[in-house]
Amino acid sequence: MSTKTDHRHDDMTLDELVDALRRDGSRVTTARRAVLEEFLHCREQHPSVEELAERIHRRYPDIHLSTVYRNLGRLEEAGVLARVRVGDGPASYHLSTDVHDHAVCERCGVVLHLPPQVMAELAELLDVELGFVLSPSHVTLRGACDSCRRRQPTLKTK
Ligand SMILES: [Zn+2]
Ligand SMILES: [Zn+2]
Repeated sequence: MSTKTDHRHDDMTLDELVDALRRDGSRVTTARRAVLEEFLHCREQHPSVEELAERIHRRYPDIHLSTVYRNLGRLEEAGVLARVRVGDGPASYHLSTDVHDHAVCERCGVVLHLPPQVMAELAELLDVELGFVLSPSHVTLRGACDSCRRRQPTLKTK
C-alpha cells in the first residue's frame, strides 16, 4: 500500500474539506464554504489571496473582501490550507495535504509542481552536507519548461 498516494488528497472534494473543518471544531458558514469552493476551482493557478478574494466577491457579492481574508486565515489556522509563495510572487494557498515546491519557466511563466521526493532528497543532502535545514514549501526553481526548450533548442546547455 502506498502511503504517499494516500496522503496527497489531490482530489479532495468540497465535502471532505468541510468535514475536516467540522472535525477541527469550526462552524461551516456560507462564506467559509464559498472560500473553499472557489479555492478548489482555481487552486492549480496559484491565485494570490487578492485574486481569490475578488473571484469570490464576484460570485457572492454579499461576501465582503474582509470576510474572505478572515476566513482564509481561519482555514489556515485549522490546518486545511497552507500559505505558499511561488517565486517572489504574492502569497497563495495550497491544500495542506498537497504542499509542494515549484519550478517556474522564465519564458512563458508556466508553474510546475515539483515531485515531493525531489525536494526530500535535496533537503537531506543540505542537512547532511551543510547542516542546513530547508524551509518546507518555499523553494522555487527557475528555468525553461519543456515546450520553451523545444522551441529554442540552444537553451540546452551541456
Ligand atoms: Zn515555458
Ligand atoms: Zn503549487
